[in-house]
Amino acid sequence: MKDIFEANILCDKCNIKTDKKIAIKDGYKIRFFECPKCKEKIYHPLDLKEYQEFKNLKRRQFNVKLRMVGNSFSVTIPREIIDFEEKFAQMENEMNQMIRLSLEEPGRLSLRFRKILE
Ligand SMILES: [Zn+2]
Repeated sequence: MKDIFEANILCDKCNIKTDKKIAIKDGYKIRFFECPKCKEKIYHPLDLKEYQEFKNLKRRQFNVKLRMVGNSFSVTIPREIIDFEEKFAQMENEMNQMIRLSLEEPGRLSLRFRKILE
């Protein structure tokens, strides 16, 4: 099946060919078409959907359990987050096995499941 992004899309107001562009929001690649004349944007539906799902998940607060195991603490990560990350990885067809844990500021730890696009 051909992806919509391989097609040429005309701006329905100006009736001219739109340009293919990529925006990066919160590490997400969002492909879109932009009319060179009126600057109207048409977003790729799949990219937009993924980004919206991420935004919904991001808004939620999760309570996690912290347990001491030897010299380390173990944290349970809610399944919804892992499922989302796995789905994302499948789509990208590259699973980044490394999970980065960093102390961002006192009292705030962050986990990175994948490379963040700069
Ligand atoms: Zn236009």
